[in-house]
Amino acid sequence: MAQDFDKLKVKSGKEIKLSNIDTEAKEFKLSKEEAAPILEKNIEKLKELQEKLYAEHKQSILVVLQAIDGGGKDGTIEHVFGPLNSAGCRVASFKVPTPIEADHDFLWRVHAQTPAKGEIVVFNRSHYEQVLVVRVHDLETKEINKTRYDQINDFEKLLASNNTHILKFFLHISKDTQLQRFKDRIDDPLKHWKVAAGDFKERALWDDYMAAFEDMVNKCSKENAPWFVIPADKKWFRDLAISQILVDYMEGMNIQLPQTDEDIEAIKKLYEAECKVLS
Ligand code: AMP
Ligand code: MG
Repeated sequence: MAQDFDKLKVKSGKEIKLSNIDTEAKEFKLSKEEAAPILEKNIEKLKELQEKLYAEHKQSILVVLQAIDGGGKDGTIEHVFGPLNSAGCRVASFKVPTPIEADHDFLWRVHAQTPAKGEIVVFNRSHYEQVLVVRVHDLETKEINKTRYDQINDFEKLLASNNTHILKFFLHISKDTQLQRFKDRIDDPLKHWKVAAGDFKERALWDDYMAAFEDMVNKCSKENAPWFVIPADKKWFRDLAISQILVDYMEGMNIQLPQTDEDIEAIKKLYEAECKVLS
């Protein structure tokens, strides 16, 4: 396809500034109407690739979604991953740690949710909360916070060495878009469960969160576990970009259907004999 979504990848060792990255994806010169059929095709391709991944049972995929409140994590899950076969694709959501989780190291609950062979797992929030909400609210000391980046990189290295492919998406929205999304939730009674007074307290910390997101992608985008910064003001662009990056990535994974030991020609004869009995 003509669009080069690979440029959304943060190259390992390169430092990006979020304030320099457009949240509206203007440079892509793509309309909603042009995007719709491409997204549809991507979803069909993803379904095929997922089935092969499941059948192969050798590799797995971990998708990490992080964003500010209202950034579109839930919508991405619904539109890009919702159509996949739930036998081989699941979502793990990370909330405020329970008392038992808080009594363990921060990766304990995360490691338990990583994908098994053949599986795609989508993290709705993740171990990265440790360098986001925990850092912004000083829930740990600065010294401890500093150690987390290396610990996360080492953890992801371990997963990658066990045939888990890691793709991480930061959904990048503007402050205006966040306010609009909060309004949409206030205006729609079906979305009231999604809005809280606390969302406005977090919004007041916008700059601290952006600094934390920036460090997160700069310190933890690695060749075997890259971060992509997805312009996410337009939901259709966000879904298109993520689906395209996934399709392109999975097509390069060399996923192999397993060879069967069964003699298919012999099975075909059994079938034909059965048909004769019935006729
Ligand atoms: P939501 O995703 O809107 O359901 O909210 C989940 C909440 O859990 C968010 O406010 C996160 O910041 C919070 N959360 C997730 N992980 C952690 C963590 N490790 N420590 C503290 N809060 C967390
Ligand atoms: Mg929320």
